[in-house]
Amino acid sequence: MDNEIYLDGNATTAVLPAALRAATEAMAERYGNPSSTHATGLKAKALLDAARERACRLLGVGPGRLMFNSGATEGIQTAVLSALCAVRARRTAGEPAGTLLVYGATEHKAVPESLAHWNVLLGLDLELVPLPVGHDGRHDLAALRRLAPHAAFVCTMAANNETGVISDLAGIAAALADSPALWMVDCVQALGKLPLDLAATRIDYAPFSGHKLYAPKGVGMLYVRAGAPFTPLMKGGGQETGWRSGTENMAGIAGFGAVLAALEPGSLPDGATFRSHAELCAFRDRLADALGQALPGIVFNAPFDKALPTTLNFSVPGLSSKELLDLFDAAAVRVSAGSACSAAKAQPSHVLEAMGLPEWRSSNAVRLSFGPLMEEATVEEACARIARCGAALRQAGLLGEPTAARPDGLLQLSAGGSHTWLVFDAASGRCAVIDPQPALEDRIGTLLRAHGYREAVRLSTHDGTGWPAAGDSLGLGAQCLRRLASGTGRQCYLLGPDGEAPRHAFIGAADPAGLAQLLPANILLCPGRDAPDAPPALCTVPPADTAPASLAGMHLDAAAVASLLREHPAALLVDVREPYEHAATARFAGLRAVSIPLSRLAGELPAWLARAERVPLVFFCRSGNRSARAAGCLRSLGYAEAYHLQGGIALS
Ligand code: PLP
Repeated sequence: MDNEIYLDGNATTAVLPAALRAATEAMAERYGNPSSTHATGLKAKALLDAARERACRLLGVGPGRLMFNSGATEGIQTAVLSALCAVRARRTAGEPAGTLLVYGATEHKAVPESLAHWNVLLGLDLELVPLPVGHDGRHDLAALRRLAPHAAFVCTMAANNETGVISDLAGIAAALADSPALWMVDCVQALGKLPLDLAATRIDYAPFSGHKLYAPKGVGMLYVRAGAPFTPLMKGGGQETGWRSGTENMAGIAGFGAVLAALEPGSLPDGATFRSHAELCAFRDRLADALGQALPGIVFNAPFDKALPTTLNFSVPGLSSKELLDLFDAAAVRVSAGSACSAAKAQPSHVLEAMGLPEWRSSNAVRLSFGPLMEEATVEEACARIARCGAALRQAGLLGEPTAARPDGLLQLSAGGSHTWLVFDAASGRCAVIDPQPALEDRIGTLLRAHGYREAVRLSTHDGTGWPAAGDSLGLGAQCLRRLASGTGRQCYLLGPDGEAPRHAFIGAADPAGLAQLLPANILLCPGRDAPDAPPALCTVPPADTAPASLAGMHLDAAAVASLLREHPAALLVDVREPYEHAATARFAGLRAVSIPLSRLAGELPAWLARAERVPLVFFCRSGNRSARAAGCLRSLGYAEAYHLQGGIALS
């Protein structure tokens, strides 16, 4: 997408144009095998040697070794294998070797996972010890000093990938001064962002990855200090002086070489490719300012003065990282969760947890990161879009500030497999809350406050509590709730326009067993809980009421959607993303779409289902998940003309 702003540089980067040219040339013209002795091979060998020499100069490799490989995960593997084989050899020789494998508590998973793996595989039975960090994300050097005499191998990182926190490598080196431990420093996030002079340090191993700094994916480097123990991970044809066998990834190395050339001061005739540290700090401050204005209450999860200026990690009270990610994505600003996030539940970030941040911050963090190629115009456009995101949230009532928008009708809020239903009655400004979930209390309060609603009643389908007075009906204004005693111990509530037949039934558990005969005809069932192991539920009907339509032909690609809309001018294109995502999106490829978020689908269903002539409904969302659920819901209710855009707007 040409208007996308990519702010996820710590995950990966686009390839530098010069690197792309170099990689293409390596494949098309310098395609020789650098081990071949003919001229074609020699040309490839010259390219390989030049890239290595440049890397050695830039990183201050001195008499150490620098080998190309497939990336940092391989480099980490090789370093761990080398260190642990050395520990085994020392043990066998009866020399002191240490018993602890110490790794920073905020390391990339590749480090503890590799340590555990090789420890078991080599049968060493060493103890893995996470080295704590402080609130600022920096290693606890006092703890390291205590562990150092017993440490066999210590793994730390130069800069953290989630927070950008820069390690105090000099402090770590001092703590290890008298330790027999070997030391690996994961330099992935430091390359091109921090000065490195490796041979002048005590560091034994330093892995690097090309794709974090504008080189292609699948190429990396490993530095090994002169005299540090080394065991090859890959044996074979003896490439890379036997340190790493396998024919070299010449396209990757050529691309990486071009990036290294751009990094070397004065190596390019047309001046600097990358921004200076001061320029990057100014960009960070500008972005932080825009975020602060758009998202009141925002907290940054790492101190700016101890972090790379290219990483901003933040949390916003009352907003999940999933919501923020969806919002930024709608504005075509690509950021990532600061923690691994699954659709159902955000996993707290192990990095932020290790820093001792409160649970809400470590579970709902967002990481915005960029590389040193960043342009000022891109920063300005990102700030404008961040402002648009803030306005969209404000309008949706999610910032808790009063907004003129006044929702009417039903809203479904979901958390952990349970659903809370809000019945907004715009005519009276009253709202009924059905089955409030503790996890949703803050959200409910925020919405009512922002939209100027008064809570009229809060009802439980579980035990029937909350019904205010005698009588079985409760008028909200234009709408009316009725109580239906089921005789099953469960309480059911019916909702409809005042004086008309009810249209929705709030039934608690998803399964209407025991209620079916008592429910009026043509009623939509609104569940309070999902069936075990089922995806989040939308409305259903009692099993006997409707013949579900087949799901065949429901999934359409973009071309099929376009032709359906051409053939059926009355068809309705429905954006089922949340209203703030809809509002943050600049345009939909010229198409007119109505915004009916999945959380408000229940309120629209009666009108659609009652239509004498059914128009095709085409749902879309970001990735195709929510739209598939909407179309599936309509089909299960017998509406055969429901479709969705497979893959969502992300692929269109
Ligand atoms: N170490 C750090 C700090 C990283 O950020 C990453 C990538 O996310 C890795 C290691 C793994 O790098 P690669 O993708 O080259 O295997």
